[in-house]
Amino acid sequence: MHSLDAFAQDKLDDLKRRHLYRALNETVREDGIWIERNGRKLLSFSCNDYLNLTQHPAVKQAAISAIEEYGAGSGASRLVTGNHPLYAKLESRLARFKRAEAACVFGSGYLANAGIIPVLVGRNGLVVVDELSHACIYAGTHLSRGTVITFRHNDVTHARELLATHRGSYNHAMIVTDGVFSMDGDLAPLPELVALAENYDTWVMSDDAHGLGVVGGGRGSSFVGNSDIPVPVQMGTLSKAIGSYGGYLCASAPVIELMRNRARTLIYSTGLPPACVGAAIAALDLIEREPSYAAEPVRKAKAFTQRAGLPDAQSPIVPIVIGDEEIALRKSRLLEDEGFLAVAIRPPTVKPGTARLRLTFTAQHPDDQVERLADIVREKILA
Ligand SMILES: *Cc1c(COP(=O)(O)O)cnc(C)c1O
Repeated sequence: MHSLDAFAQDKLDDLKRRHLYRALNETVREDGIWIERNGRKLLSFSCNDYLNLTQHPAVKQAAISAIEEYGAGSGASRLVTGNHPLYAKLESRLARFKRAEAACVFGSGYLANAGIIPVLVGRNGLVVVDELSHACIYAGTHLSRGTVITFRHNDVTHARELLATHRGSYNHAMIVTDGVFSMDGDLAPLPELVALAENYDTWVMSDDAHGLGVVGGGRGSSFVGNSDIPVPVQMGTLSKAIGSYGGYLCASAPVIELMRNRARTLIYSTGLPPACVGAAIAALDLIEREPSYAAEPVRKAKAFTQRAGLPDAQSPIVPIVIGDEEIALRKSRLLEDEGFLAVAIRPPTVKPGTARLRLTFTAQHPDDQVERLADIVREKILA
């Protein structure tokens, strides 16, 4: 065997041995909640389409209109000729909704994090990161070439200790955290982190991929509890509750202007297809118009956790931590036999020994199915 293929096969065999092998499953998402997989119709609790907007007629129509007006692709980087007129409209809408001075749209949430962090943190900078932050935050911190230190999950005291010890050795420092944690569903202590950062001349960046559209009246994690927590660097995605594709940053005008000048993932990557931008504008319209609809996913998640006997949900994400990878896969198959899709999440997406079923609730999940799922989880998974 060619050494390249032998190398790949070796790695694959090892993953299979450790129950960490992953395969792509062809999935047809019919209406945003029911999906078809391997010839089976399942009710999905594994989509991040929290408001089911991927299938909304107004959102789909906006995508179609954008294609008809501007074409299928954008043709170049936004800095060259890819900056079609829908971008300015989306950015001003995002900034208004998030009550920020300005916004910048990136190719995806991953590209946003990989682009933003290196602009703000360089070789002489310090990044203090919640250990459970999303993989693409770590991609950004590594690309920054700065010093990266993690603090224990949501442990503000630990973050304070790290800043007290290390802050003085760096030109500038930034705390980075998920706003809503993608695999655990809990919220970051943003007010405490912002207050801590103040004391150490440190900036704060939150990743609101799972907050926008579903918490804080739809405005995201910095608006939870009717507040407007002054997080200066707020990124997020257009690919989850917004139902389209792309990433964004909301920040002050100078920070956004700096991104347009320096963020490599913005400058050296082609602009989003107009359809994505058009669809995102239509989705934001719907969310702004109906904040009560934005509260539905969390309401369903809370109904579920209460009935299943789990800790009260804080977001639409509910983890059922199993531990062992093989058992998590087995429990996932058990739910599949009951007609539910709940994909098992394994390392390295989560820490070793914390393999889990990660359930996501969406606005249109029927209440009786949520109840049936809760009963099955209580009786067959948690028991
Ligand atoms: C999904 C996710 C991203 C990446 O966003 P994409 O638009 O899908 O690239 C970033 N951060 C968090 C916390 C996420 O869950």
